[in-house]
Formats: sequence, C-alpha cells, structure tokens
Amino acid sequence: MNNREELKEIFFKTKRLISACEEMGLEPPMLPLGTLDFMEKPVSKKPVLPSEYSRTSEKEAPEIPAPETQTIKPATPQFDSLEDLREHMGDCRRCDLHNGRKHLVFGEGDPKARLVFVGEGPGFDEDREGRPFVGKSGQLLTRIIEKGMGLTRGSVYICNVVKCRPPGNRDPNPNEIGICLPFLKAQLSIIGPDVICALGRVACQALMGGDFKITRHRGQWRTYEGIPLMPTFHPAYLLRNPSAKRPVWDDVKSIMGKLGLEVK
Ligand code: URA
Repeated sequence: MNNREELKEIFFKTKRLISACEEMGLEPPMLPLGTLDFMEKPVSKKPVLPSEYSRTSEKEAPEIPAPETQTIKPATPQFDSLEDLREHMGDCRRCDLHNGRKHLVFGEGDPKARLVFVGEGPGFDEDREGRPFVGKSGQLLTRIIEKGMGLTRGSVYICNVVKCRPPGNRDPNPNEIGICLPFLKAQLSIIGPDVICALGRVACQALMGGDFKITRHRGQWRTYEGIPLMPTFHPAYLLRNPSAKRPVWDDVKSIMGKLGLEVK
C-alpha cells in the first residue's frame, strides 16, 4: 500500500469511527477544528512540495493559529428517568475518582422536585453512606431546607457536580468535572426543576462558567438552560463563617419567593 492509499484508509476508518460514536451516543473523539471539513473535501490533486515551505524563512513564515479543538456533538443519549441515567453510569470508571471511592453518590430526592440543590462532590460521610449531604454540612443543609424553608428533604432533590469523593476532600479538578458534568446536566434535564440552588464556587462555576465569583455574584439570580438559578454559599463555608448565614438566609427567602412559597 502506498502513502496515499494508507492515508485514504486512515481517513475512512476515522470517519467510520466518528459515525459509530455518534450512533451509539458515545463520547466523541476530539478533533482539531477544520479536520472534518477537510475530510469532506476531495483531496487536492496539487501536491504540496517541500520547496514551497523551504522558500519561506522561519521569520517570514505566516503564523499558524493554534489548533482549536471542537467536540463533535454526539447523538446525546436521552434518558427517560433518573433510574435509566443511574443504570447508564453503572460502575463508573470514567475518571480516576473511582479509585478511592466506597460509593458513587448519584443524588437523592423527589425526581419531580421543584427545587434542586447542587453541591460540589461527596465528602467522607457521603462516600461511606452513598448519599449526598449527610455529614456536618449536609446536616446544616437539611436544617436550612426543613427549618428555614419549611420543606421536607424528600420533597427537593440533592446532588453534586462530581459523584465520587475527591481524595482528602480536595476540589474536583477540571478533568473530573468535565467528565462528570454531563451526568449532572442530564439529572437537571430529567427533573426539570423550577429553581436550582448552586452551593458554592465549584457548583456555580460548573453550571455558569469559570469566571463566576461566588463572593461577588452570590444572591444574584442567573439562569441555567432557562431555569432560574440562585448561587449561594456552600454549607461547609457557613460552618466556618457563621456571619455568612445572613446572606444565605436572604437567598433562601428569594428562592421561596421564586417558588411562590411562603417562608414560615
Ligand atoms: N459537600 C458537597 O458538596 N456535597 C456533599 O454531598 C457533601 C458535602
């Protein structure tokens, strides 16, 4: 097989791989922007001779833009229910966080909840029990829901950006967040709440972008996919900074107002 035939075969194999990924709804490969266009075009008959490059000195050579990458949109798997989504996650080993976990903490609550709380990721207690927000900060969140809002924990939905505990309770890294975020997004799309409450910097940045500053923007309504989102402090922060309870109480009242519920 000569070079040209070999190249052609690589192209067609890559194309078939991409189609297969799309059909199965799998994570697509990352390709430099323009690769797909190139693959669609007929291969130019005009050979590029080495001399065309060698004529230009390095100094004069036009700047080659850094290849941007794009993700080819897969046919995103659609899930009818949280159970289907959980089943799809299976014994997830998509990132390294699975190594140290005891349980994958998917989330819990009413699958039709009007209010969803999104935290950062399971801690020690959550990992041990397989349930979100059951440790010290979870107990504070539960008090906010039950005593502050007058709701029951079971009537809302509680989940996290990453579903497995980062070792030593460190922040999840961008790679871990990037891999796990589609599952949170799928949860939110299945539940379709009236309001999302994002707890702390990691949850806010995961849903609203890396430039979100929790100290500056907390308490200001945002939208996520058309759903009103209230960014507020994480309960763990409240435990360390009790003076932050007042602004969080303001945020809680604002959420109740948005839900058309009275604060008792
Ligand atoms: N902190 C979080 O962000 N999530 C939990 O589930 C527990 C603590």
